[in-house]
Formats: sequence, structure tokens, C-alpha cells
Amino acid sequence: MAHLDRRTLLLGSAGLVLAGCGGGGSEKKAAVRATSKGPNIVKPRTGNLVSQADTAALRDRLNAAFATRDVEQLVGVIEPGDFALDDVRARWTRRYDNFDRLGFIEGEWYVGAPAGRTRNGAGGQVEYDGDLVFAHTVAGCDAQQVVESYRATFRKTSEDAPLELLHIGDADSSFDPSIWDVAEIDAIETDHARIVFRGKDASRAKAFASRIEAGAAKAFDIMPRPQGVDKVFYALTWPQVDGRLYGGVAVGEADAHAYYHPFLDPSELATGQRVPTDTAGLPKATGRVGLHEGTFSRSDFVDVACHEAVHVLANQWFVNSPPIWAVEGLAQWSEGRRYLTAARGRMQAAFPQFEKVVFQGYDEFHQSSLETEFYLCSAAMYACIEDDDGLDAVMRTAQAFYGSTSPEKAEEKLGRTQKQLVADTRKWLGA
Ligand SMILES: [Zn+2]
Repeated sequence: MAHLDRRTLLLGSAGLVLAGCGGGGSEKKAAVRATSKGPNIVKPRTGNLVSQADTAALRDRLNAAFATRDVEQLVGVIEPGDFALDDVRARWTRRYDNFDRLGFIEGEWYVGAPAGRTRNGAGGQVEYDGDLVFAHTVAGCDAQQVVESYRATFRKTSEDAPLELLHIGDADSSFDPSIWDVAEIDAIETDHARIVFRGKDASRAKAFASRIEAGAAKAFDIMPRPQGVDKVFYALTWPQVDGRLYGGVAVGEADAHAYYHPFLDPSELATGQRVPTDTAGLPKATGRVGLHEGTFSRSDFVDVACHEAVHVLANQWFVNSPPIWAVEGLAQWSEGRRYLTAARGRMQAAFPQFEKVVFQGYDEFHQSSLETEFYLCSAAMYACIEDDDGLDAVMRTAQAFYGSTSPEKAEEKLGRTQKQLVADTRKWLGA
């Protein structure tokens, strides 16, 4: 059974909290001292301050280095004595090489000033750790920029000195590693898919391209097309990286994954704040599919490719982690009615347990011995909605649960509770 992993899903809610609200302690103290001497003397902007012009200048240098694809130019932006230069060299040599071969990835750097740490009121040196952001788009797959952040150290020695980059450290684990960090990769483009693979898997990628395309095309037939998106990104993985890309997923046995990529505002992320981008009409998130070696021996391969693509396309609505049935049910339902017809008896038997799991977490669903039946019963929820109210109602329901801050808000929006949906499905199933 193909999973949308719960850990990556949970990131959707847990990941969006404010990170690193700056203290601004020294500024407060300075203000208190000044006011004690009388009014109108406070000059909070005095001293050595990292300005927007400073961050913009450093950003320009990084982006110029990215444009040339010259790794030494990138390394040249960093303090020459830093211990991690070879790591930067290795990572970006591989990336530039892969990006050039793929030809469909654009990227740029963002530099920000985290609140409260970027000013020295006395005018002396300012040095701080912050988030350096690299944002990329995969043409056709990403309607907005996908972000990743690196722990970095910055310094401004005096008021008139430029902002320096002392160190680029590890990428934030929730974004890392990307498929282009773990191997030399190439890609095949079809009408609805970008299929990325390492050299060793080229013949398999070629052999399966038409089936991956068939699965992706089916997903685009079923789902509303996210604005600016006409392809799904598939990566062929191998045992050493199965389930371990983009922060990793916790479901061990699944043979395919949809990794969730929220669209966070890159400028805000560069100041340490995780703020979702909210551009009207544009998708709120995207994803990447990872296909394990085991997937390729499955007789229902096209359905797996479709299932994972539906997860990725449903991320266009993603505001908060939806109930598990709403996520897996949609993807399973998209695979077709024949699975429900074939398993009717098993679903009827499992339905009492399913009724409970609807209101529980991802663990109760995935760790149950009835997991397969839960997928099917979840799909039955949508099949029942489709029979009652049509295809539009299926999409309205999925969108409500993906796009609301809580299941209760989704129920309000729909004018129908999950309890009612479950009761209707029980009747529909004859359970
Ligand atoms: Zn799934």
C-alpha cells in the first residue's frame, strides 16, 4: 500500500509555527537608558546595524555565483578560513552538475536579518547565526518556490563594512537531502511527469516511463489541476535512500511515498520565520514522489503511480494535516472502484474498527493489522459521496479537509459531519 507519510504530513502543522522570535534585548536597554535622560533622545537605529542593503548585497553575490554555476565563485563568497568549504564545494559541484544535466531547475538565494540579533548599539562587531535560504522551482511541477534553509554564520565588523558570510552549515533536516544531492541523476520528461533517476536505473526508468505517465495522466484527469502545474515529479529511489529523502519518512514498508513540500515564504524563512506563502489562486504546497525498487514488480504499478500523484496534487489545498481517511481515501479512491468491489466483504467486516480510526491519528491507521482495509474503507467514504452527490462533491470534501485549520471547520464548510459521512458510508457498504 502506498503511503503519504504521517511525519511529513505533521510537518504541515508543526512546521508552521513561528521560529526564533528575536529578543531585541539590547535595543530595549538602550531605549530605557536614553529615555531616563529625557524625551526625544532615543535613536534606536544608531550603532552597527545589518540593513536591508547589506543583506541585498550579500544575496546578489550568492545569486551571481549561482548564475555562473562556478562553485569557486560560490566558495569565494564565504570567509576563506572556514572549515566547511570542502563540504560546500562537494555539495554544490554535484548540484550544479545535476541542474545542468536536468535543465529544468531554477534557483536563487535569500538572505535575511533575524530580529534582535543584528544590531550592536555601541557600534562594534555584529556576528550571528541565521538561516540562509536556497529556493528552487522544478519547471511544470512547482507553481511557487520550494525552500530549503542552511544554518549559516554572518558578520558585520563595523557600520561601514559589508555583511560577510562566515560559514554555510548543514541544511535543515526537514528539507534534506534532495534527490540531486545523493547521486548523479538524469531525467525523462513525459506529458504529465518528470522522472528522475540515477545512471544505474536509466533502463528501468525508460522501460517504466509510459506506465508512470499513465498513472500521472490519470491523476490529472481526476484532480483539479493546480494553477501553474502540469507535471508530477517522480524519483526512482534505491535501498540506501528509500524513504530518506526530504527529511525522511517514517513508514518503513511502503514501497512508494509522496513527500510533502510546503510553500514557505523564502524571505521570511531567511529571517527565521516559517510563514506559508498565500498567493491567491496558487497551490499552497507541492510534493515529490519516491518510487522504491519494490514498486516496479507490482502488477498495479500504474495505480501506485496515480495514487502518489493524487497525494502530490492534493497538496495544492494543504493548510493543515487532514484526517487520515481524507488523505488516503482520496488517493485510494482514485485507483478505481474495482478494488472496492473485490474487497467488499473484508471492508464490511473491518468497518466497526474503521469507524473508530476515522477519529484517531495516523499511527492507529497505519499500524493496524487492518491497514489495507482502512485504505479501502476510506476510499468508500469518497465513493459514497460520489454516488450521492457527484464528482464535484468528492473534490469539495477533500478540499474542505485539506484546506481547513481543523476537521470541525471542514464539517462546517461542508454542512456535514464526519459522523454523518461514516454513517452514510456504512449504509452504502451494507456493513
Ligand atoms: Zn497514500
